[in-house]
Amino acid sequence: MEGVKNMKTALVLGAGGFIGSHMVRRLKSEGCWVRGADLKYPDFSISFADHFVIADLSVYENVESIIDPMGIAAFDEIYQFAADMGGAGYIFTGLNDSQIMENSALINLNLLRAQSRLNAKYDINKTKIFYSSSACIYPDYKQLDVDNPGLKESDAYPADPDSEYGWEKLFSERMFLAFNRNNKIPVAIARYHNIYGPEGTWDGGKEKAPAAMCRKVIQAEDSIEIWGDGEQTRSFLYIDECIEATRRLMESGFTGPVNIGSEEMVTINQLAEIINKYANKNLSLEHIAGPLGVRGRNSDNNLINSKLGWAPNESLSDGILRTYDWIAEQVKNSNK
Ligand code: NAD
Repeated sequence: MEGVKNMKTALVLGAGGFIGSHMVRRLKSEGCWVRGADLKYPDFSISFADHFVIADLSVYENVESIIDPMGIAAFDEIYQFAADMGGAGYIFTGLNDSQIMENSALINLNLLRAQSRLNAKYDINKTKIFYSSSACIYPDYKQLDVDNPGLKESDAYPADPDSEYGWEKLFSERMFLAFNRNNKIPVAIARYHNIYGPEGTWDGGKEKAPAAMCRKVIQAEDSIEIWGDGEQTRSFLYIDECIEATRRLMESGFTGPVNIGSEEMVTINQLAEIINKYANKNLSLEHIAGPLGVRGRNSDNNLINSKLGWAPNESLSDGILRTYDWIAEQVKNSNK
C-alpha cells in the first residue's frame, strides 16, 4: 500500500455484486484507492479495485483483517453492499429466510464490531460507513393500494415489512444508527428502491423484474409470463443514478435513512409493454401464479431532494433500453 498515504481510500463490501462493482468503478474514476471484498469476482466484468479479497464476510476474522488496511490506520470510507439479495422469486417464497437473515445480519454485525475495535486500537474515528438498506423495510399496510402516493421515510414505523429480508434490513439500519450514537462511527443509510441496469443479474432465479422481463421478451416468440395480474406497481431506478445519489449522500453530513429511488411508478404490465415496444415485438401477456410482494410501491423523494438537491434525471424507458441491449448481448453469448 505504498503511495496510498495521500489518496482517499475506500473499501467496498459486496464488490463482486451489481451495485458494488459499479461503485468500485465510480470510486476509481474519482481517484480513490479501492479494496473490494466479496465471495466472488464480478460476474460480468473485471473488477476495477486496486486490491480484491475473496472472503466470506459472515466470518468475523475475515472482516477484521479486511477493514484494517495496514499502514494507513483505517479506510476513509466503507460501502456495505454485501447481502443475500434477489428478486421476488428469491425473497418472497419464504424458502431462503433463515439464510438471508443469518448471512446479512452477521456481515453487518461483524463490520460494526470490527470497525469499533479498530478505532479503539488506533484511537481514531475517521471511517464513514455507507449502509444499503431497502424499500422492503416499509410496512405492508402502507402498500396495499396500487396507487401508492410514495413512501416517506417516516412511514417505516410502526414496522411491518412483508418479508424477512425487509426485517433484517430494518434491524441493521437500527444497528448502524446505534453504533453511530454510542460508538460515534459516522454512517449514512439509504433505502434503495429497485435498482436496475447493465451488469445486474438477469437469470438464475435472483434477477429482478426489469431484467427478468427483458430476458423473457428477448427469448419469447408469442407470449411472456407475468406473476399475478400484473397490476402491482413499482418504481425502478437506473444504476448510474443510484451511484450518483449514494456518492452525494456520502459527501453530505446527512445520515438518513433516506430513499434513493424513482417516483416514476408503473404497473408490471406497463413495464412489460415498454420492453415489448422497444423490442418491436407484439407478445401477449400471460398471467400466472407466482410470488408477488406488496401490491403498490413508489418512492417519495422529498427528503433527499431537500437535503441533497438530488432527483433522478433519466426516464424508465431510457434506462430500460440500455438494459435490454445489454441483456440481449448476454443471451446471445450464452446461447440461451
Ligand atoms: P448483489 O447480489 O448483486 O450483490 C451482493 C453481493 O454480496 C454479492 O456479490 C454476494 O456475493 C455478496 N455477498 C453475499 N454474502 C456474502 C458473504 N457472506 N461474504 C461476502 N460477500 C457476500 O446485490 P445488489 O443488487 O448489488 O445489492 C447490493 C446491496 O443493496 C444489497 O445489500 C441489497 O440488499 C441492497 N439493495 C439492493 C436493491 C436493488 O434493487 N438491487 C434494492 C434495495 C437494496
